[in-house]
Amino acid sequence: MNILVINCGSSSLKYQLLNMKDDTVIASGVIERIGEELGIITQRSNPAKWPDTKSTEKLFIRNHEAAMRLMVEKLVGEEWGVIESLKDIDAIGHRVVQGGETFSTPELVDENVIEEIRANIPLAPLHAPNLTGIEIAMELFPHTPQVTVFDTEFHQTIPKKAFMYPIPLNLYKELKIRKYGFHGTSHKYVTKRAATHLGKPMGKTNLITIHLGNGCSMAAVKNGQCADTTMGLTPLAGLMMGTRCGDVDPAILAFIAKHKKMGIEDIDTMLNKKSGLYGICGTNDMRDIHAARENGDANAQLAFEMFAYRVKLFIGAYLAVLGTIDAVVFTAGIGENDAHVRALACKGLEPLGITIDQEKNTLREPGTRTISADDSPISILIVPTNEELEIAKETMALVNG
Ligand code: AMP
Repeated sequence: MNILVINCGSSSLKYQLLNMKDDTVIASGVIERIGEELGIITQRSNPAKWPDTKSTEKLFIRNHEAAMRLMVEKLVGEEWGVIESLKDIDAIGHRVVQGGETFSTPELVDENVIEEIRANIPLAPLHAPNLTGIEIAMELFPHTPQVTVFDTEFHQTIPKKAFMYPIPLNLYKELKIRKYGFHGTSHKYVTKRAATHLGKPMGKTNLITIHLGNGCSMAAVKNGQCADTTMGLTPLAGLMMGTRCGDVDPAILAFIAKHKKMGIEDIDTMLNKKSGLYGICGTNDMRDIHAARENGDANAQLAFEMFAYRVKLFIGAYLAVLGTIDAVVFTAGIGENDAHVRALACKGLEPLGITIDQEKNTLREPGTRTISADDSPISILIVPTNEELEIAKETMALVNG
């Protein structure tokens, strides 16, 4: 069974075609700068089968429909094609960022699902293109079953006392303002993997999962289900991120507005795009931050310490929420690759039963692995995330009934 996973962003379209017989990627691509003067499409094919693994082309891509047609052309066309015809795609899985309170499981796309997703758009207007992608795909692949997998799904088990904000109750009732959480597909995927690695049933596994990429979030997982997470109504909350601030005193917004004469839209942009690691030291790439701090850059050192400190803060908080845990799990770009961040975030947690093994931590090996000391009561794991594979698996499970 071949499954096409589609992730339609505001000016980009990411896609991955997977062969579910052996969970391998047939081809993956990204179409960027949709609607801009010069768009870019890059597609990589499985190097085991196609020797030319990467092809890039620059051309004007008018809108998401043009992008989707381009994707189809590249997947089946003579030049880059990896499949004979569209019939070789058995199902499509769509990543949808905001499922609101409506969706706690993947859904087969029909008119009702589309209308429910539309109703949730005010909660995440920046992600309206998710729906555009689904509607175009329904036109282009009218006979292919399509499934939506929501970033918020895994967090729907968070209890009310944890997802409510202490603001006037009518704001929840009228505007659905509450914590939703994001990166759910990643937290769910690494939870399953971690449970398997630990040799425990998922339903009996307690974890703190730490997704550190450009966006960063953590989840407290109790008996395989999400009990709390750091992101909130939007993906701006919680940890310090590449360019997003994470948790700040909400009164700062009014303070900035008054003293810098900035409008709320500009402040929102600043907190999303000019803050986090970038806001403190001018880059959001952790590799550059390490290079800079090795050269004595005090701001880079500060950004690194702030970043790790906030991870540690939530490890403590979630340990208190969960009582006992089997493992702390690091994943995503920084979580999987950055031994410095992992070491600093876990430093001083030994009295709580979390002891990292410095040698294992710095060893660069692929796949899921344990990096805690042999006598650490709580394991520390690295689990590479794979959101596309998880979406494809959920899609396959639903389509196959
Ligand atoms: P992601 O969003 O999961 O793709 O993660 C992207 C982030 O991972 C980048 O901003 C980098 O800062 C970070 N990253 C990727 N590779 C490394 C590495 N080898 N060491 C440290 N950070 C890395």
